[in-house]
Amino acid sequence: KIALFWFRRDLRLHDNAGLYHALRSGYPVLPLFIFDKKILDALENKHDRRVNFIHQTISELQGAFNELGSGMLVEYGTPQTVWDKILNEYEIAEVYTNHDYEPYATERDGALGEIFAKKEILFKTFKDQVIFEKNEILTGQNTPYTVFTPYSRAWKAKANEFFLSSYPTKKYFKNFLQKKITAVPSLKEMGFNITDEPAPSSTVRKELLEKYEDQRDYPAIEGTTHIGIHLRFGTVSIREMARKAYEHSETWLNELIWRDFYHQILWNFPKVGKGQAFRAEYDNIKWRNNEKEFKAWCEGKTGYPLVDAGMHELNETGFMHNRVRMVTASFLTKHLLIDWRWGEAYFAEKLLDYDLAANNGGWQWAAGSGTDAAPYFRIFNPTSQAEKFDSKGVYIKKWVPELNSLDYPTPIVEHKFARERCLKAYKTALNKD
Ligand code: FAD
Repeated sequence: KIALFWFRRDLRLHDNAGLYHALRSGYPVLPLFIFDKKILDALENKHDRRVNFIHQTISELQGAFNELGSGMLVEYGTPQTVWDKILNEYEIAEVYTNHDYEPYATERDGALGEIFAKKEILFKTFKDQVIFEKNEILTGQNTPYTVFTPYSRAWKAKANEFFLSSYPTKKYFKNFLQKKITAVPSLKEMGFNITDEPAPSSTVRKELLEKYEDQRDYPAIEGTTHIGIHLRFGTVSIREMARKAYEHSETWLNELIWRDFYHQILWNFPKVGKGQAFRAEYDNIKWRNNEKEFKAWCEGKTGYPLVDAGMHELNETGFMHNRVRMVTASFLTKHLLIDWRWGEAYFAEKLLDYDLAANNGGWQWAAGSGTDAAPYFRIFNPTSQAEKFDSKGVYIKKWVPELNSLDYPTPIVEHKFARERCLKAYKTALNKD
């Protein structure tokens, strides 16, 4: 009999909670990764850089297993069909994996859990992706926090060595099943093309963190870490990142806590991951949803330079600076009165660091419908945001070189007019006078 470790959003051998426990189970451990056909088929862009990133990471992991004289099962199919096959082929005593908090994943794991139970296979799951999950940080009334500042205070009060130290997996590597497997399905057979743009580095430099607080708000400066994609797929460990934050920057630590915060929101209020506003009354807003204007926003042709620069950066690189994410999201929802779900879906398609919990949190914050949202009457002025955060226009010039040419569009809507229109729509929906 063997134990199986199922990799999902934790694509690394070091400091991996579920893998550590599997390797100590007393059974030889066979690792598994499934390229989920359901998820891949739904992606329209067949040059998706995230799929390339996962594929490359899995190939590297396979190489690492081969060096250890073992191998990883890498399958392509729906989880249900892959598991049917595996359960027929192997005698499995225990299945180990790490928690995934997205609604699709919790439903999948629930259904598989029932199948394992029928076969008397123990299904053991662990926290790995966050420092604190689900209901580990609760208010005095035992309810989830829905406001960030008190949540982060409670988070910091609870965090200690125990929660931040690494799982020493390496000394148990001899417990992998000694069976050489080399196969990895190609991108081509899964319907994807190879892209050769490199992924952002997984190194977080101490020098950057030391200047983080002063520089993080200015999109023209490389002042943030670009570590999102690595946290998303677990190629870095959140515990290592949190320890770095404690060492070099409390402001950066707060950003990692925002990540935990939105993950617990998604788990405690799964409706937000299913297209619903956190504050139900915001679903009464009569969005204008003008498709032409949405297209102009997507293409960075609104006539507002900072908004357009952000959308160009996103479209060309898969990244957008946090400050500009806030401005573009606010512009779509408030200036154009386009449903935040449209913007959320567009970002989901384009962002390398796309993460359901954080993206949804960011969009609902911008629309005002979220947990810890900006009040509905606070409407970013995209021109003064540019003056404040890109005063020399360096970021704008980089991403909107056509700015001073005749081709640059006039503003799609006048700021004051848009502001009044927005306030009216929000007041009507929210019954404010
Ligand atoms: P750094 O500033 O170096 O921060 C380090 C890490 O902390 C980030 O990689 C991320 O994991 C986490 N983090 C930072 N800020 C936040 C935040 N506000 N909420 C949650 N986690 C945070 N972040 C995503 O990871 N995925 C998304 O899909 C996403 N969509 C967003 C959409 C909107 C509309 C907004 C306003 C924000 C969104 N964010 C998202 C949050 C934030 O913009 C990005 O995490 C950040 O810009 C990524 O760059 P970085 O890795 O250089 O971040």
